[in-house]
Amino acid sequence: MTGRIGKLLSKLLGNNRKEFLEVHVDREVIEEIMQIAKTSYPREFSAILQGKIEDDILRITGLIFLPGAASESGAVMEIFMMPLLSDDMGSVHSHPGYSAEPSNTDLQFFAKKGLFHMIIAEPYDVESIRAYDSFGQNMDYTIVG
Ligand SMILES: [Zn+2]
Repeated sequence: MTGRIGKLLSKLLGNNRKEFLEVHVDREVIEEIMQIAKTSYPREFSAILQGKIEDDILRITGLIFLPGAASESGAVMEIFMMPLLSDDMGSVHSHPGYSAEPSNTDLQFFAKKGLFHMIIAEPYDVESIRAYDSFGQNMDYTIVG
């Protein structure tokens, strides 16, 4: 999209700050993700990843839990229904089982919303977390703090 309307829309959607070279995730966020995944098991949990882009670094600093977001299936779809928040950078959800590969539903969701998505599989430790971009491609991230 070009022109004034495109520019305005891009500003409203926060698309003007989409560029980043690295992803940093706060250690507390990782610990919270592991904890909630274990507590929710065998149900999935999902949450919004809050963060900001500064100096070419996307930094994830918090989670927003949605009421009733833990469900047997389709957890991410409930996030999709949420209004766009300015510091909404992506999503995290858990998988029962040992595969952190995105499902087809996950991939459709990744493509529509957010810049950075995490999936945690059993046994819900640091090694069982995978991160993806909007295209479902693996992304590296650094744990900080
Ligand atoms: Zn999934």
